Amino acid sequence: MGERAIPAMRVETPAKLNLILKVVGRRADGYHELISLMVPVNLVDRVTFSRGAPGIHLTCQGIPVPENNDNLVFRAADAFFSRARRKPSISITLHKNIPVAAGLGGGSSDAAATLRALNTLSGHPLGTAALAETALTLGADVPFFLQNLPSIARGVGEQLEPVSDWPEYWYVIVTPPVSVSTAWVYNNLKLELTTPGNGYIVNPLRKDWSAIGGLLENDLERVTAARYPVIKSIKGILVEAGAEGALMSGSGPSVFGIFRSEEAARRAKRYISSRVEGRVFLAGQFKEE
Ligand code: ATP
Repeated sequence: MGERAIPAMRVETPAKLNLILKVVGRRADGYHELISLMVPVNLVDRVTFSRGAPGIHLTCQGIPVPENNDNLVFRAADAFFSRARRKPSISITLHKNIPVAAGLGGGSSDAAATLRALNTLSGHPLGTAALAETALTLGADVPFFLQNLPSIARGVGEQLEPVSDWPEYWYVIVTPPVSVSTAWVYNNLKLELTTPGNGYIVNPLRKDWSAIGGLLENDLERVTAARYPVIKSIKGILVEAGAEGALMSGSGPSVFGIFRSEEAARRAKRYISSRVEGRVFLAGQFKEE
């Protein structure tokens, strides 16, 4: 076997869940300002990087995603090499497991992992601030996935405050077979119906995160659920199955239930699997190896 066939690096890229997502304003440039509580979970894609012929060469397996320069992995690699002023010679394989356009942030996670891996493989030409800036040019959720820690995100998602005492939870995630455009959801969001301000949720929770099950809240859910009533019914089934709370993640359509024990989540997954259409996953919090 030639040296080129040996993977230089293999990484797992987590999905995220938004346990709180409040839209608190709209900036002059059209971006929405948010406050969100985000948790990385161990439903993962796998990305391998190996030194290759000149250029960026991407191969995709698993759930279909574009295999060209529309792929966020490709765009992240391109952004990395321009920012680091290096000539690319890299082969990347993406094995896609995280449902696409599902509110789980899979593309953003792949992009962040690509930035980090290429930076490591290149001897760290970019510092933390340059990586975070490059991440933000690829998408508002990408900076979160550079850290992969339960965090409170503010601004458009780039101001991140890790939650150090986040309790261990398990999540059952249901992705119904509809795909939702994030742009469509934001275009249909009526800002006057969202609650301004942000401290009111996060500050009391800081004292006791275990109250989170009863406080899950996503301003985008109203928009997506009005078009896809299945979101409401999945929430109902998750609660019936014993979830402490259930919510749509991001712009949807994935819905998750939150559980205090793995066993309770496992039982709920069995209960739900025969009652909903779509994919059902059990996930714990993602932790870096
Ligand atoms: P968010 O929660 O941030 O809204 P999402 O989970 O809804 O994200 P993604 O799955 O990250 O959305 O991506 C949505 C779009 O991005 C799709 O149209 C998809 O074709 C495109 N895309 C490009 N690269 C990727 C990738 N590596 N993984 C997933 N989607 C990708």
